[in-house]
Amino acid sequence: MSYLQRNRIQLQRNGLLALSVQLLSREGMAETVMRRRAVLRAIAGTGLGAVSVSASRPARAHISRRMATRELSVPGSEHTLEVMTTTAGTNGPTALVVGGVHGDEIAGYRAAESFANWTPEAGKLVLLPRANPGAIADDSRSTGTGDLNRKFVPDEQPTTPLARTIWNFVLETNPDALMSLHESRGIFGGEPAGVGQTVFCSPRKEGYDAAQMGVRRANRSVSQSRLAFKRGTISPPDDEPIGLLTEKATYDANIPSFIVETYWSNPLAKRIGWHQATVRGVLDYFDLID
Ligand SMILES: [Zn+2]
Repeated sequence: MSYLQRNRIQLQRNGLLALSVQLLSREGMAETVMRRRAVLRAIAGTGLGAVSVSASRPARAHISRRMATRELSVPGSEHTLEVMTTTAGTNGPTALVVGGVHGDEIAGYRAAESFANWTPEAGKLVLLPRANPGAIADDSRSTGTGDLNRKFVPDEQPTTPLARTIWNFVLETNPDALMSLHESRGIFGGEPAGVGQTVFCSPRKEGYDAAQMGVRRANRSVSQSRLAFKRGTISPPDDEPIGLLTEKATYDANIPSFIVETYWSNPLAKRIGWHQATVRGVLDYFDLID
């Protein structure tokens, strides 16, 4: 039974189905799966909630996992893309974590790889840790075909075989959340200027709330206030920079998307740890982990 079905039954028991339908349409989410936590928050917000909150939490007798790997071939390229999928024993949402879009942003792809050891408590965790293997091999931002993170222009076909392969994979995976892990040479709103120490999200409530959980979790291990993580918004399709993977996912596919940026002038282990913490916070919002 899916989360949605479980929640519907629980809500019917509580005579609250009408409320859930109303909330779904108000959020413009009628076609998407309403997540358990969103239902619980909605109920809690009405003051009707304590009993149904505890009653609707699914029992988890045990946690099992299944891990699968596969390779995506890229037309005309010597490189393949490795994909790792860990499936929990309990049904739930799907999250896709992408690293290495920029080949010299080490903490992003190292963190993305490390999640292969994680077991989601529910749902599916899909990893594409090294999205740009040619650039990673060169330890450079891009390859000869230019910046991969400018090839995903909304309303257009991606312009390179690599970008098309990645985009088709995103559509096939159809995740409930997409995270892209990056690093910056500066700090968002700080010195030196850049976009580091930030979680950017799709501009909708679900995105803001999930990003905030990522920010909060990362900041547990930030000791200097100038390095504290902040939340940012993925810009509209017409604003520079144009062609980000997360931008296309947000505006073309309506996938809640997140960009994590660390400031690279910190020890690598710290940066990897911050990526892991922000991803954990976002996955917590989407109920893959606690
Ligand atoms: Zn980047």
